[in-house]
Amino acid sequence: MLIAAREQQLVDAKNAKRGVAYVCPACQHAVILHRGTRVQPYFAHTPQNPCTFQGEGETAQHVLGKRQLSVFFAAWGPVTLEKVLPSIAQRADCWIDHQPRPVALEFQCSPINRDEVAERTRGYQRLGVYPFWLLGSRYARQKLGWSLIDRFASWLRGWGLCLLFWDVTRQELRIDHHICQAVTGEYLCQTVWVSDVAALSAGAQRRLWWSEPNIARFRFELDRDLRRSSLTLRPLQTAIYLTGHHLAGFPQTLVTTGVTAPIFGRGLLLWRVMVAAWLFERPSLLPETINGLAEEAFRLVGGHIAAVRFTGQPALQQAVDTLLTDLIHDQYLVKIPTGWRVLSEPHWDADYTAWLENDEKILG
Ligand SMILES: [Zn+2]
Repeated sequence: MLIAAREQQLVDAKNAKRGVAYVCPACQHAVILHRGTRVQPYFAHTPQNPCTFQGEGETAQHVLGKRQLSVFFAAWGPVTLEKVLPSIAQRADCWIDHQPRPVALEFQCSPINRDEVAERTRGYQRLGVYPFWLLGSRYARQKLGWSLIDRFASWLRGWGLCLLFWDVTRQELRIDHHICQAVTGEYLCQTVWVSDVAALSAGAQRRLWWSEPNIARFRFELDRDLRRSSLTLRPLQTAIYLTGHHLAGFPQTLVTTGVTAPIFGRGLLLWRVMVAAWLFERPSLLPETINGLAEEAFRLVGGHIAAVRFTGQPALQQAVDTLLTDLIHDQYLVKIPTGWRVLSEPHWDADYTAWLENDEKILG
C-alpha cells in the first residue's frame, strides 16, 4: 500500500522515514516501509498480522499503477489514494471526488472471482459511487470472452459496453469498447488507447466497423464440430434431431447479420435455429409459448442473461421480436389475435452436404 498512518495522520510512502512505526489506516495493524532502488516505496503488512480489509496483495505493477492512475485521473477532481471506506469494509485504490458523483478505481492485477467482483461493485453502488475496474497485464493478455465481460464490462457514455485496461509501461488506458458478438458467436470489440482523461470523457471518435459474418464457413465448421461430436454442440444437435432436422442444414431464411449484445453463448444464429426448429412443430403459438422456447434455446446455446453490471434481458426480448418479424415478413408466420399461426415451414437440408454443392468458395 502507498498510504499508512502515524499518530492519526496519513503518510504517503514516498514521504515516509525508516525506523518510524506506521500502522494500516484500515485495520490498525503495524505495517513495514519497503523502499528499494527498483521499486516505488510502499508499506506492507507482516505475515503475522495480515490485513483484515479486503484488497489485493501488492505487486510492483499494482503499486506503480495506483500512483500513475492518481495522476491520470487528477483532472476529474481531487484524488485520494487508498481511500478507506469503513461502512462497506473496502479500500478503493483511488478515489476521485468527481461531480456529480464520486468514482472509485479498482486497479485489478491479481486473480479475482465473480462473487468478489460483484460484492465489491455492490459495496460501491451502495455508497452511490461509480466503480471503475481497471485491469492489469494479466487480463490484458486474455482473449475477449464471457469470463472478462461477465465480471468487468460496464456501460460508459460514448463507449457502449466496455472493458478498461491500465498499462503501467505505456502509462495509457486501453479501452475495449462497443463489446458485442457476431451472430456466429465470436466476441468483438473496438480497441483504442487514450493518454489523457479528456479523451476518456469524449467517447469513441472513430466510426464503428464490424466485418460481415461468413455464414458458409459457419455452416462448414458447425458440420465439422458435429462430426467430432463436440460436447457443447451435443445437446443442441439432440434437440434438433428430435424435430427431424440436422443442425448444419438450417434454413437460409434464419440467417441474419449485424451484431448483438455479447450474451448469446454460441451465438444468435444457433439460437434462432433452435427456436425456429421448435416453433414450426406447432400449428399456432401463444406469446408465452414463444417466450418459453426462447429461454430454453438460450440455455441450450450457453447464453447468459445477467452479468455483474448489466442485464441481457432486453437484448433477448429484442431477438425474439426480430425473429418473429423476419418470419412474418418471409410469410412463414402470420399474426393472429392470440399470437401467431404457422403458414408454412422453411426448407431444411438433410445435412450439410447439400450446401457443399451450392457453395464452393468455402472449399477454396
Ligand atoms: Zn490493514
